[in-house]
Amino acid sequence: MFGKLFSFNGGVKPDPSKADSTREPIARLPLPPQLVVPLHQHIGGTPRPLVRPGDAVLRGQRIGAADGNVSSAVHAPTSGRVVAIEPRLMPHASGLSSLAVVIEPDGQDHRAEREYFDWHAASPGEVRDFLRDAGVVGLGGAVFPSHLKLTPGKQGQTDTLILNGAECEPFITCDDMLMRAEAEGILRGALIMKRLLAARQVLVGIEDNKPLAAAALKAAALALGDAALEIVVIPTRYPAGGAKQLIRVLTGIEVPHGSRSTDYGVQCFNVATSLAIWRALEQGEPLTRRIVTVAGNVERPRNFDVAIGTPISHLFDAAGLRPDTDKLIMGGPMMGIPLPGIEAPVVKAMNCLLASSPTLFPPPEAEQPCIRCGECARACPADLQPFELYWHSRARNFGRAQEYHLFDCIECGCCAYVCPSHIPLVDYYRYAKSEIWAREREKDAADSARERFEFRNWRAEREKEEKAAKLAARAAAKPAAKPAAAGAAAAPTSMADDPKKALIEAAMARAKAQKEAVEAKNTGSLTTAQQAQIDATEARRARAAELADGDKPE
Ligand code: SF4
Ligand code: SF4
Repeated sequence: MFGKLFSFNGGVKPDPSKADSTREPIARLPLPPQLVVPLHQHIGGTPRPLVRPGDAVLRGQRIGAADGNVSSAVHAPTSGRVVAIEPRLMPHASGLSSLAVVIEPDGQDHRAEREYFDWHAASPGEVRDFLRDAGVVGLGGAVFPSHLKLTPGKQGQTDTLILNGAECEPFITCDDMLMRAEAEGILRGALIMKRLLAARQVLVGIEDNKPLAAAALKAAALALGDAALEIVVIPTRYPAGGAKQLIRVLTGIEVPHGSRSTDYGVQCFNVATSLAIWRALEQGEPLTRRIVTVAGNVERPRNFDVAIGTPISHLFDAAGLRPDTDKLIMGGPMMGIPLPGIEAPVVKAMNCLLASSPTLFPPPEAEQPCIRCGECARACPADLQPFELYWHSRARNFGRAQEYHLFDCIECGCCAYVCPSHIPLVDYYRYAKSEIWAREREKDAADSARERFEFRNWRAEREKEEKAAKLAARAAAKPAAKPAAAGAAAAPTSMADDPKKALIEAAMARAKAQKEAVEAKNTGSLTTAQQAQIDATEARRARAAELADGDKPE
């Protein structure tokens, strides 16, 4: 039986605004005329396309293979024909495009042959590979490849597996509706993960504003009869769904700055990810669909079961986008990002589409100077000093911002929510982070260029030395080539008293002899003696090069 609940610092209580989209059950959205399936939908390497334009594909067929271990495959959500593989607009604030497989559905929805996999008999590594190839990634928003999280932490074992059903951000209700509809599958997925991680217990955290979902999970847990499963209802407070915050509430463990929860024997998965794992391992279903909440300024707010790659416009058509909509957001009002256009597709990371209007979200008031009231620090669930981060980000003093743990900021927006000066604090943090990343990329590029330059120099030097050594070896193999040396021996005795002068004169004599030899060669009248002199000169150069080498400091 679960004991004590803990609390995390900070947090806020915004209006949940969840009722509108939970009135109707999840609706399965019909397929659009074209699906745009991006190859890169997760953290890690971009999958390699496995199909070409013109290819026929089946539902569940792999169309992109994982690029290495930190990557995840992508699959065709239905049967049809690949009409293009080209860059398409992505649901990202940058408005950038990314390579996507464009599929025209044939309306048959024929599925690829099921890949039978006996995960009970497989090794943990084989199970992880299977999940990578099934395209399972974190569906709570982070889209981290799930197979990587199924490796026990540094301590060798995970004590507690946490399922995150908190869904704390306003307007978003996809997990709530999923827990109501698929409670058993979610818990079966959790039991699979418990076994893979050799965890002692599974705690499912759910906020108390989702009583129907909590009841469904409790009933399913009872039916499954596994004493290690515990459904824990927690107080509603944003951002209780943050991994570190939920871990704190359920276990009392404070994961310090720069540490991972696995170092403390805790691993955390979203409830939708747990269902995707169960479907992949037990039903051979790769991840090709997800639940998306469509809410805000729409006629029919609802949750849709939608194929990955469906254009966003298709969802807004189904929900009835109102004409006074001024902005579209992917995610909720606290952490969401503005969308560049409605032609962008649904991706694995998309949990909510929010339509904004001036009535629903009035324009922010004018930004005022910081009055150092400290409200932001009191609201920060990550125990940061938001005003210090703000000052240093604004002054472009990025080093200082990092000293204040900028990268521990989860961009929850609590600080901006309470700021009486209406400072868009999170915008400053995002700006600072992107600048730091850009600088690091530039530095990496400069380091690579310097390494290439140094390698080229080293190679040229080595080639020079090898050539000199070869010449020296050739000269050593010709002992008869002595005319120049004989000339040098015939020099006046007085020169022995002035070795420098002797050397200069000898060099001049050699140069003269060489010039005559070259001229003779050019006129075709090279004598044997002159040829010998050329050989001797080359040998001397080689020896000089050898000596010069020997003089090099160690
Ligand atoms: S809440 Fe706003 S005004 Fe107050 S200290 Fe923080 S940034 Fe400054
Ligand atoms: S956005 Fe960052 S700094 Fe602001 S409250 Fe959240 S974690 Fe703290």
